[in-house]
Order: sequence, then C-alpha cells, then structure tokens
Amino acid sequence: MNETATRVYAEIDLDAVRGNVRALRERAPRAQVMAVVKADGYGHGAVPCARAALDAGAAWIGTATPQEALALRAAGIDAPLMCWLWTPGGPWREAVEAGIDVSVSALWALDEVRAAARAAGRTARIQLKADTGLGRAGCQPADWAELVGAAVAAQAEGTVRVTGLWSHFACADEPGHPSVPLQLAAFRDMLAYAEKEGVEPEVRHIANSPATLTLPESHFDLVRCGLAVYGVSPAPELGTPAQLGLRPAMTLKASVALVKAVPAGHGVSYGHHHVTAADTRLALIPAGYADGVPRHASGCGPVLVGGKVRTVAGRVAMDQFVVDLGPDDLVEAGDEAVLFGPGDGGEPTAEDWAQAADTIAYEIVTRIGGRVPRVYR
Ligand code: PLP
Repeated sequence: MNETATRVYAEIDLDAVRGNVRALRERAPRAQVMAVVKADGYGHGAVPCARAALDAGAAWIGTATPQEALALRAAGIDAPLMCWLWTPGGPWREAVEAGIDVSVSALWALDEVRAAARAAGRTARIQLKADTGLGRAGCQPADWAELVGAAVAAQAEGTVRVTGLWSHFACADEPGHPSVPLQLAAFRDMLAYAEKEGVEPEVRHIANSPATLTLPESHFDLVRCGLAVYGVSPAPELGTPAQLGLRPAMTLKASVALVKAVPAGHGVSYGHHHVTAADTRLALIPAGYADGVPRHASGCGPVLVGGKVRTVAGRVAMDQFVVDLGPDDLVEAGDEAVLFGPGDGGEPTAEDWAQAADTIAYEIVTRIGGRVPRVYR
C-alpha cells in the first residue's frame, strides 16, 4: 500500500505485541498467559495479534463472542481458545466441534452446551464462571452449588468436561480498591467448593491486565490480558506503558489533506466552536469520528503535525477535523499527522486522547474504525 497516499491508517507493530506478551509472562511467571483478542484485537487485528502473541509464548487466546473464536479457528489458529459471551441459541455445536472452551454462568447455558455436545458426538470443554462481585456475567455465590452440581452430573454423563473455573474483577484498575480482596476471597471460596465437589480444572483465573501488572496474588494458573498485550496502560494511576514495561503497538497516522489561509474571525467546522483569532492557516486532517476519532475530543484532541503537537480546532466531524496552524507554519498538504503512537517521537499517546475525550484508552484503540487500513510492521 502507498501509505502516504492513504487518508488515515493504523500502523501495528507486531514486535511490540510480542514484547508485551513476554513482559506479561515475566510479570506472572507461574501462570500461563491468555491473550485477549476480542473486538478485532482491541482494534489491532485479531488474527495477526493472536499469532504474534502465540509466537511470544501466550498459551491461550480469548475472545468475547463465539463468532470471534470461530473466526480465529477458521484462520488456522489451533491454540487453546476460550470465549465467554453467549446468548441462548448461540453456535454451541460449532464451538464444541472446534474444540473451543465455552464459558458457562447459568443452567440454561449448561443445558444448551450438553445438547450441542450430544449432537456433535464430542465432549464439550466448559469453564464455569463465578460472579465474585463484578455484577455482570457469572454465577452468583448463592447459585454456585446448583451450577457446580449440574456440571459435575454433566461431566459424569460424558457431555462436558469442566476445564476451567474463572471470574473477572470490577476494580483492579483502581489500586487499593476494597472490592479487590473481597473478590479474591469470594473466588477462593467458590474454587474450594467446586474442587470439593470433584471439579479438577486445568485452569483457574481471574486476573485481567491491571491485576496481572499489580496483583501477583491474583495470578492463579492463568492471566487473561487484553489491553496490556497492545502496550496500552489500563489506567493512568498504574503508570505509563514505559513504566509498566510495555510498548504501544498502534500508531494512528493521516496525511494532511489541505492547507489554506483564512482571515481572522473565520468560524471552523460545524457549529463554529472555533473562530480564528488572527489571520491564520488551517490544516485539514482526514480522519473523523467514523474512523474512531472521538467527537468528545472536539477542541482538545492532540495531534502531531509539522513537528508540533496541535489541538483539534472546533468539532471533529464524521470524516475529518481541522487544526489551526498559525500564520507562518510550513505544513503542507501530504505532510504526515500522527494522532497517537508510542510517544517517543513526540506524538501524543492513546492515553492522551483518552484524557482529552474523557474516556479510557481501551475505547480509543478499540474504536479505530473498520475503514482505517491496518499496516503491519
Ligand atoms: N477477561 C474478560 C472477561 C474481559 O471482558 C476482558 C476485557 O474487558 C479481559 C479479560 C481483558 O481485560 P484487559 O483488557 O483489562 O486485560
């Protein structure tokens, strides 16, 4: 691809992905690493990132939906694979046939997976999910005995094998949050109960990226890391990627589409929320909210153009936004604009955009749109 002629594109550094997985393995030396590649690898490309993570020693790949997991199998990824976001009538049989571990939080799901296993003539690999306090998916402690009992019975009939017991944190990205030890204690209790009832899981896991980076006592047999695999910090309080030993994998670049002189008092972009203070030159950056540039960063998103970090002038539109260069600037059409990257070339980071748009860095990288080409390095 001729990148300079490309309106906007995301460069993905797969060496960074590999280095991040190695760094996570060092952080959790007694655990296996599951690289979470849901949402198209947090916007970085699920298949290339899964391959890079496996090259660097990730033992598992995780996705939210079964469709995401099946797409990885179809692409030839034959590593242990788990998915967790099921709805009734989901593709259980396809998942069982593809040897994908499926998460089960409720009796209806166990019934559907047992039926799929019978139809497929195979034993389904299931991982029982406990709600230890997140209040999202997972089985409540009060219902755990019933779910574990039903799973043990299904194991005896040969339709399923309970390969994992797992849970997910609510506040691991907030150091010292009181819910964290409570969730760990609840997880230990739910594990002990299931193991007493005869469940012998291959893996027990609760840690996401922030827990992997900050809470060794949460590592158990496996850590499930998403954002850190892509080198982005889960929260400013935890440190920058460099402080965490990570390297951001995505750099979002665009070619300046137009530079033009305008007089003082000229309104810029929809709503005229920016009005030029003096005679100036405007540069048009051809990336907008349809590409994942947050509209909430109108008037404040940072972008490196012509050797300086500038600010989005006025509103981010669907396909484009403007920066106000000032009168003497040498920026020209075709020059490179870097919206975010690792930061070592003076460009802003995904964390800077998250702060500008009052959101989390997870959303910045994940929302980079489908029409933005990914260029792998
Ligand atoms: N596990 C589950 C169930 C998730 O939903 C996610 C992502 O939100 C992860 C692991 C990975 O989390 P993180 O990106 O913080 O590592």
